[in-house]
Amino acid sequence: MAKVIPFGKKHSLFVAESVLFLAFLGLLLWIDLSFYNKLIFLSLLLLTMGLMLGFLQIRRRYQILIKNQRQNIQKLDELSGLALEFSKISFIRNKASAGSVGPELASMLAHLFEEYFQSDKFILFVKKRKVYQALIAHNITLPQRNKISIKANSQFISLLRSTEGLQDIDLVQSLKVPSSFRSLRKQHGLNHLIPLSTRSDLLGFVIFSGGVAHKEDDEEIGSKTEKASSAETLWYVKQDWERRLALFVLNQIAQHLEKEELEGKLKELENKFNTETKQIKVELSALSKDLKRKVFDLNAISGLVKNLYSVLDEEGLFSTLARMLQDHLGAKSIFLMLPKKETQELMGRYFYGAHTPDIFGEETRYDLKIERDTALYNWIKNEKHIWPLYQMERISREEKLLQALLNSGFQIGAKLSFDRNSFGVIFLGEKTDGAKYRQIDLDILTILVHMTVIAYKNIQHFKCIEELSYTDSITGLYNYRYFYKRLTEEVFRAKRFGRKLALVIFDIDDFKIYNDTYGHQAGDQLLKQLGELLSRTVRSIDVVSRYGGEEFCVIMPESDQEECLKFAERLRKNIMNFPFKDEYQKQEHNITVSLGGAIYPYDARSVDRLIYCADMALLKAKSTGKNRSVMYQEKLISVSQ
Ligand code: GH3
Ligand code: MG
Ligand code: MG
Repeated sequence: MAKVIPFGKKHSLFVAESVLFLAFLGLLLWIDLSFYNKLIFLSLLLLTMGLMLGFLQIRRRYQILIKNQRQNIQKLDELSGLALEFSKISFIRNKASAGSVGPELASMLAHLFEEYFQSDKFILFVKKRKVYQALIAHNITLPQRNKISIKANSQFISLLRSTEGLQDIDLVQSLKVPSSFRSLRKQHGLNHLIPLSTRSDLLGFVIFSGGVAHKEDDEEIGSKTEKASSAETLWYVKQDWERRLALFVLNQIAQHLEKEELEGKLKELENKFNTETKQIKVELSALSKDLKRKVFDLNAISGLVKNLYSVLDEEGLFSTLARMLQDHLGAKSIFLMLPKKETQELMGRYFYGAHTPDIFGEETRYDLKIERDTALYNWIKNEKHIWPLYQMERISREEKLLQALLNSGFQIGAKLSFDRNSFGVIFLGEKTDGAKYRQIDLDILTILVHMTVIAYKNIQHFKCIEELSYTDSITGLYNYRYFYKRLTEEVFRAKRFGRKLALVIFDIDDFKIYNDTYGHQAGDQLLKQLGELLSRTVRSIDVVSRYGGEEFCVIMPESDQEECLKFAERLRKNIMNFPFKDEYQKQEHNITVSLGGAIYPYDARSVDRLIYCADMALLKAKSTGKNRSVMYQEKLISVSQ
């Protein structure tokens, strides 16, 4: 058994015991007792002294035990405190925050390793995605920290996964580890390793330098520990329970690393979710805005379409379209070219908005044209709908019209496809606010162009039907409906401008006999020839119509009685002298007509009255012998023959 009593105390006890023993021995020799009694007494003395010494020794041992236990409890307290502290630390492994929690964690780990593993150097590796990176290095300078890393799928790591607790580095020495890692280990004597594992994964590991040589269990308390100077020194723990506690603390780190990793992943997911949600919100709000705008535009377009369809004349249609393009698209100016009926070449027709008189003025506009089969013509012909004007420059740089359009700020071209071979084109000038045309503008333009084409075709059809409804099929002249409508307009105009207007009605004399003699077909043929003759005889401003069976009328704007009578007579003579062909009889026939004339406003001030007056005059002509012209008078006195 090793001595536990300190040297000084040991010496004084010996002296005291010797002095006491000699004193008793003297006393024993001096007092008068039998030898036998003296021997008993001496034995008792020795026994007492022995017991005393034994008692003192036991007491001392007990005191040491108590002190040791106190020390252990203190350590236990400290370690559990340490474990608690670790549990409070949030192990944030990204670089940005390592600065704030790193030093705290590092100093706690340093304390742990110094105190319980007698180690002054260590590196803590922590798993980050697919590598284990050095997070904290104590008393070791890592030149390029990020480069000190080991792949998670390396042999080294897979071995660590199957280990537990404290490991001698020799275990892994034979394995392939990165050279940087290997040299660090060699340089700093990092000869031990503790894996930080949880049930699910290896979250990290610590490699650290060797500790102090182990002292005897019964080593005297208070002796200073001696630090190992190199990696060659073997590492021991002081006591088994301390080692276990230290490992427990490290295990705490592992637990927290796992917790933190999960939290990190959770955070990452949350962030991802938040960003995605934000993005979806932004997209949704953009979509709803777009939808609102589209609904608005649709409403606007349906209103526009209604407007377009309600117009029944070409000029009205295109000016409505132009107004829409100006109001809704902000087009500064609009130039429209339409196909010429006979040649299909594109002719300048309408110009709306800001004016460039030298190019698009009233006079010059109609001279602007795009001839057939030129590059510009073919471009428009082949282009589907809408195109930016600058694109045409590539095809036809030389075209003067194109240059004029571009110089005047025109930006967009749109084709109006009437049918396979017939098309027009509309050019849009820049926007009034200087902005560029957006997709929605072009979409609206597409719809409007389509609608305009349909409306234009409708107008053409309407015109055609109207013309048919106003045309007499035998003579090709206007019919009574047109005559009446036109006479109403002309009377209105004459009234408005204070002008005169003459109306002549004439009837073929004895046409019944003609029909009865040569047949109705010959009669029809005659009516046709009479229509042609009539058209040739009148002025361009006169309107000729077939009033009824073999009655015709001529509206003569701005004509008075004299002019009217003159014309009636000229016409009568022309007809009288005209050889009407009869193809059935292979003959030529002559006819005569009787004419009646009336003047607005002298004879009548209304349409019906004017017709009545002319008719009365005609009746007068008939009743007074036929083949004559009579101008209406109250008493119908003016008769010519
Ligand atoms: P009047 O000198 O009094 O006018 O004698 P008229 O025979 O011409 O008498 P009226 O004007 O009453 O006769 C009209 C005739 O014109 C009756 C009809 O045979 C003929 N007629 C009317 N419309 C047509 C037509 O479209 N084609 C042909 N072939 N004849 C017609
Ligand atoms: Mg008649
Ligand atoms: Mg007649």
